[in-house]
Amino acid sequence: MLSLKMLTLLLLLHMQLSMAFPVPAEPPEEKNTKIVQNYLEKFYQLPRTQFKSERKNSASVVVEKLKVMQLFFGLNATGKPDAETLEIMQKPRCGVPDGGGFMVTPGNPKWKHMNVTYRIRNYPSDLAKAEVEKAIKKAFKVWSRVSPLSFTKISERKADIEISFLVRDHGDNSPFDGPNGILAHAFQPGPGIGGDAHFDAEEKWTNTYENYNLFLVAAHEFGHSLGLAHSSDPGALMYPTYAYRDPNTYLLSQDDINGIQAIYGSSSDPIQPTGPSTPIACDPRLAFDAITTLRGEIFFFKDKYFWRRHPQLRIVRLNFISLFWPSLSNGIQAAYEDYDRDMIFLFKGRRYWAVSGYTIQQGYPRDISNYGFPRSVQAIDAAVSYSGKTYFFVNDQFWRYDNQRQFMEPGYPKSIASTFQGIQSRVDAVFHQDHFFLFFSGPIYYAFNLNARRVTRIDRSNKWLNCR
Ligand SMILES: [Zn+2]
Ligand SMILES: [Zn+2]
Repeated sequence: MLSLKMLTLLLLLHMQLSMAFPVPAEPPEEKNTKIVQNYLEKFYQLPRTQFKSERKNSASVVVEKLKVMQLFFGLNATGKPDAETLEIMQKPRCGVPDGGGFMVTPGNPKWKHMNVTYRIRNYPSDLAKAEVEKAIKKAFKVWSRVSPLSFTKISERKADIEISFLVRDHGDNSPFDGPNGILAHAFQPGPGIGGDAHFDAEEKWTNTYENYNLFLVAAHEFGHSLGLAHSSDPGALMYPTYAYRDPNTYLLSQDDINGIQAIYGSSSDPIQPTGPSTPIACDPRLAFDAITTLRGEIFFFKDKYFWRRHPQLRIVRLNFISLFWPSLSNGIQAAYEDYDRDMIFLFKGRRYWAVSGYTIQQGYPRDISNYGFPRSVQAIDAAVSYSGKTYFFVNDQFWRYDNQRQFMEPGYPKSIASTFQGIQSRVDAVFHQDHFFLFFSGPIYYAFNLNARRVTRIDRSNKWLNCR
C-alpha cells in the first residue's frame, strides 16, 4: 500500500510533469490560427471576424497582413505562420498597433506647447508609490533630454498626459488581457484621452530586471503620448516588444532621437546628445566581438546585442544580451562553449562568467587568473573549446588549457601563425563547427580545416548572418 508520503510525492511529481508538458487543449494548428488572427486583428488592423465561416473568406487578407507583420519584424515575408513568426507574436508587447494608431486627431498630431503636464491617477499594487513616481519622472527625462520639451507633474487638475493603471475592459475599446501579453498602451497627442498612458494593472511592475520594469515601459508609452509610432529598429525604445535594458545606463537609440526631433526639433543643449545605433547585420564593415556555439545554435556578440543563428533553419535573429542574461555585461570580448559541462564561458577584460542556459552561475564573474593567465594579459580576444582543450587567443599568440585537468598547458603562449597557418591578423572571434575552426578577423572569416591544418575558405563575416 502506498504511504501518504509516497502518495504526496507521486502527486507532486505528477503535477510537475503536467506543468512541464501541458496537454494541448486543441490541435496546435487551430491554436496557431487563433494566435495569428488575434495578433493581426489587434496590431495590424485585420477586420475582426465573429464566425468561423467568415474567417475562411478572409484567408488572403490574413496572408497579406501577415506579410506586413513579417516585414515589420525583419522576417521572411512568407505569409505563413512559421515558428519564428509565432514566437514574436507571443512576446509581451505594447498594445498600440504597429501601423500607427490610437490617434485622436488624424495626421501627425503633436503638442503645440513645449511644457507638457502629466498626472498620475492611481498606483499599481506591488511597487511603492515613491518608486512609481521616480520611474515616471525618469521616463519623461529620456525624452526631455533630446528635445525642447519639458514635463511638469500636476495633481489638482487634468493634465495633458493622464497616467493610470487599469484592468481588462476599461472603456476605451482596447481592453487589457491580464498578466503578460499586452503591457500598456498610450494615445497620440490631442484633447481628452489624447496623450494618456494606460498600464495593465495586472502586470507585476518593478524597478529591477524582473518583469516588467515600469521605467522602460513608461518611457516607450510616453513616446506615443508625444506622437511617435512604433519603430522596426530592434534597438529602438519604440520597438513594439518588451526588452529589458539596464535603466541606470539607459540611452535612447539614435532612431528614437531622430523620431522625436523630427516632430519637435532638437534640444537647446549646446552639446547635442546622440544615441547608440543598432548594428546592421549586412553592413560590410561589421566585425563581431565574440562568437560561441550554444546547444547547437551559434551566438554572434556585438556591443549590447547578439545574433542567434539556428543551424538547420538558418534563421538569424538580433537580440539584446540583457534579454537573455540581465546581469551580464555588454561588450563581451570572447566566448566558448564547454560541451562536456553544458556551459558557455563569456569574457570581458579580466573578468569571465559561466552560463548554463539562461542562468549565470553562482560566484561569477571571476578573474582569468583562475585559468593561469599572467597579469600581463588584460583581455582575451577569442576562445574556443575542442576535444577537451580550450584555446585562448590574445594578440598574435594563443594559450591552450586542459579542461579535464584544469590547468594551462606548458609551452604556451605560442604564435597563432605558426600553428594556424593562414591566420595572420589578430582574431576577433572564433568558434568550432564540424572539423573546422572558424576564425573571424574584422569583416573577414577564415575556415581552418583541423584535419588538413590549413585555411580552406575565406569569405565575408556577415555571410553567417545570411547577407549576400
Ligand atoms: Zn508602443
Ligand atoms: Zn486604455
